[in-house]
Amino acid sequence: MIQKKDDKQIQHQFHVRQNRQIIAIAIALFLVLLSAVLYKRPLFFGELSKGKLYGMQIAAIAAFLGFTVVNWKCPSCDKSLGSNINKRVCGKCGARLH
Ligand SMILES: [Zn+2]
Repeated sequence: MIQKKDDKQIQHQFHVRQNRQIIAIAIALFLVLLSAVLYKRPLFFGELSKGKLYGMQIAAIAAFLGFTVVNWKCPSCDKSLGSNINKRVCGKCGARLH
């Protein structure tokens, strides 16, 4: 049987991951919005083709999803925490996260 990490350690780990996840969401949103704004202002950024902006959006979303897979896991059982950023209890192992 796997040694259970103590609750404080799990909650601390979860907060670190939660903060990183919020920052990642902010960066991803910023990049997607930025490319959307650039997309509507081709006069100011004529050198950026629409294909490149589209690629930038895809890259931002892909990087975000990749980061989420690595970061957004339960500190106790390493299973994905799903889409709820304010999760209180891990649905997989029942560890208290808050
Ligand atoms: Zn868990």
